[in-house]
Amino acid sequence: LPDPDVAALTAADVVDLLPRPRAESDKYRRGVVGIAAGSERFTGAAVLAVGGALRGGVGMVRYAGPATPAAYVRSRWPEAVVTPLEHARDITRAGRVQAWVLGPGLGTDDTALELARSVLASDVPVLMDADALTLAAAHRRLLHRDAPVLITPHAGELARLLGVPRERIEAERLEYARAAAAELGVTVLLKGSTTLVAEQHRPVRINTTGTPWLAAAGTGDVLSGLAGALLAGGLSCYDAASCAAYLHGVAGRVAASGAPIAAGDVAEAIPAAVRSLVQQD
Ligand code: AMP
Ligand code: MG
Repeated sequence: LPDPDVAALTAADVVDLLPRPRAESDKYRRGVVGIAAGSERFTGAAVLAVGGALRGGVGMVRYAGPATPAAYVRSRWPEAVVTPLEHARDITRAGRVQAWVLGPGLGTDDTALELARSVLASDVPVLMDADALTLAAAHRRLLHRDAPVLITPHAGELARLLGVPRERIEAERLEYARAAAAELGVTVLLKGSTTLVAEQHRPVRINTTGTPWLAAAGTGDVLSGLAGALLAGGLSCYDAASCAAYLHGVAGRVAASGAPIAAGDVAEAIPAAVRSLVQQD
C-alpha cells in the first residue's frame, strides 16, 4: 500500500513552484541569497555553492567569507557581489539578503563559529550544510532560532548531529529524517542515492531524479547554493529543498548523460534542467 505520509514531486509541481521573473521584477525582488562559505583551507566549496546559486534563478548572490576564498569567488564569478570578511560582524554589510547558505568549506575553527553565529543571528531563513552541521553537532544551540532552518546533511552528517551510528541512519533513512525534523525543529534534506525532505506535519518528499554520477566531491555544495537561491526567491524551506533536490538530480543526469561529471558541470546544467521541465509541462 502507498504510504500517505510520503510524497514525490512531479515535473509539473516543480514548474509551478519555481519562482519566475515578471515584468515588475528587479534583482532585489527576485531574491538576494547570501553565501557564507569557504575558509583559507577550503576554497572550492565556496566557488561551487555560488555557482549553484547563480544558476538557480536568484536576483543576486552575495558572497561573504575570508580573503582567500573571496578572491577565488570573485575571479570565477564576476556576477557575485563579494564581501571579504575581516570580522564575522562585517556580515551586516551584506545588505538585503533574504536567505543565507552557511557551511560549505567553512571549517570549524573559532572564525567559522563566529561567522556561523552572526549569520544565524539574522532574521531570515538559513540553510546549514557541511561544516555548519559539524559546528551544530558541537554547539546545539546554533539550531535554536526563530527564523526557519533547513539542514542538508548526508547520512554521516545526520549521524553526528543525532549522535546515532551512521549505519542506523542508512538502514532507516525515512524514520531518522522524520525524527530529526521533529526533534530539531528544522526542515531536513537528507542526501543519498535518493533524497528525502522531511518537515513536521508534512509528508516526507522523496526525490529519485538523481544519478550515481552525482557521487562526486562538490555536488552537495552546488545543491546548497541552488536550494539557497530558491529560499531567497520566496519558497518555504520544504518547497525550496524539494525543488532543489529535483532540479539538482535532473541537472546531474543532463550533465552526465552516462559519462563522468565534475560538480561544476552540475551547476552549469541547471538551466538546461529547468528548460527540460518547462518543455515537458
Ligand atoms: P555531498 O554528500 O554533500 O557530497 O552531496 C552529494 C550529492 O550527490 C547529494 O546531492 C547526493 O544526493 C548526491 N548523490 C550522492 N551519491 C549518489 C548516488 N549514488 N545516486 C544519486 N545521487 C547521489
Ligand atoms: Mg557535502
